[in-house]
Amino acid sequence: MLRTLRGRLLGSYVVIILAVLLIVAVALFGFATVSDARLLPSLERLSAISRTNQRELIQLWGTGAGSEELQGLLFSTSEQANVRILVVDWDNGEIVLDTATGDDWVGDELTGVEQPQSLALTNVGRGSIFGTFIHTNGSRWLVFAEPDPALGTALIFYAQPEPTAAEFFNEYFLRPLMFAGALAVLLAALMAVVIARSVARPLGTMAGAAEAIARGDYDQRVPQAGPDEVQRVAGSFNSMAAQVKATQQAQRDFVANVSHDLKTPLTAITGWSQALLDGAANAPAERERAAATIHDEANRMARLVNELLDLARLESGQLQMNMRRVDLGEVLADVHRSQLPQARARNIDLALDATPTPGVLGDRDRLIQIFTNLADNALAYTPAGGAVHLATRTNDGWVEGIVADSGPGIPEEELPRVFERFYRLEKSRARGEGGRGSGLGLAIVHELVTAHGGRISVSSEVGRGSAFVVRLPTHHS
Ligand code: ADP
Repeated sequence: MLRTLRGRLLGSYVVIILAVLLIVAVALFGFATVSDARLLPSLERLSAISRTNQRELIQLWGTGAGSEELQGLLFSTSEQANVRILVVDWDNGEIVLDTATGDDWVGDELTGVEQPQSLALTNVGRGSIFGTFIHTNGSRWLVFAEPDPALGTALIFYAQPEPTAAEFFNEYFLRPLMFAGALAVLLAALMAVVIARSVARPLGTMAGAAEAIARGDYDQRVPQAGPDEVQRVAGSFNSMAAQVKATQQAQRDFVANVSHDLKTPLTAITGWSQALLDGAANAPAERERAAATIHDEANRMARLVNELLDLARLESGQLQMNMRRVDLGEVLADVHRSQLPQARARNIDLALDATPTPGVLGDRDRLIQIFTNLADNALAYTPAGGAVHLATRTNDGWVEGIVADSGPGIPEEELPRVFERFYRLEKSRARGEGGRGSGLGLAIVHELVTAHGGRISVSSEVGRGSAFVVRLPTHHS
């Protein structure tokens, strides 16, 4: 039972209720022990019995009844009211009649009644004697007597054993306490059910939604209801569901893109090789064109497969990085040298401005891959007559490598997406399937820079050019 939230709530409530009841009971018991108040109800009862019984006695006396009849009345009252009646001689305090059977006190003295000071009995005549009488045998009795001249020298005491604190407590406090306890437990059970339900219901909805997601229904969202904590879980659940959906979509897009990008060159290769086989491309020029296309497309596929492998290794952390101190200026000089022929061929001014910088911590080959990729893009997208600028600088404790061009630029809204896999600007895509890039270049660059503990950013202005800035941590030897 304590495994459910409802059970635990109820359990804790019951413990608290019992603790409170116990504290109240101890306090009340203490009160019953020290206070004379516990005598009051019994004394009131004795005084009421005394009043009626004495009135009846006097009436009976008035009718001329004998002492036997009077005694009979005393005995019957004693039995009916369950009270001990002691008739005492006013002059010497000696007991002359005792209605108790067995332990008869006739002949004993009834004196020294301790009257509780703090009690104010209502409706009793002045001169009444009441309080605790301790018999010589040690028993404690509560007694009440109201002297009446009509009774002559007889003083009639009505007595009962003095109630103990436990008896008083049981009679007056136990039942209300138990009733209060039962009521409190009932309320607690009700509250436990309501509170547990307010938590369990949204959790149940979430469990259902999670199962639906596991079955592939990624559109599941749960309402944010219930206590704050549960609402927070629901919020996290919803963002997780959105994230799972986005990841699934990205996965699907990725597979679709890869298949498409592999299929295009394959179609060309199959077509041209078929033409060679069945003699449709027999003229020397045709055969050369077929061979060249097959070669180019095969290269394209090889490049794509290599890029995919690179990405996969980067993502799974399997790419071996040979980290050591590298001079970024030298890296850019290498890239500059290797890209010069392409720049010259496209009539683009490729400049290098490598100011001395502290060494960075990196894998030299991977750094060359990063900047070759950026320079290659810059040269590819910049029209003839334009300029591409490679530079290094120190900024804020970082070493930066910059590849800037005077190309067409990238619209601001596209900037955040250029590092996504397979992302190509509309214009680049419009260059046709045979166009360069797969859209993986910048994604790989981004992963490589991240693997170096660096960051890459891009700023661009349409019509004026773009600048890619790679920030790398300096090497501390
Ligand atoms: P691709 O292999 O197609 O070049 P990238 O990931 O390298 O793919 O680049 C993604 C897209 O970003 C490119 O398709 C291109 O549209 C755009 N891009 C990259 N570099 C530049 C640049 N220097 N100037 C203008 N556009 C660029």
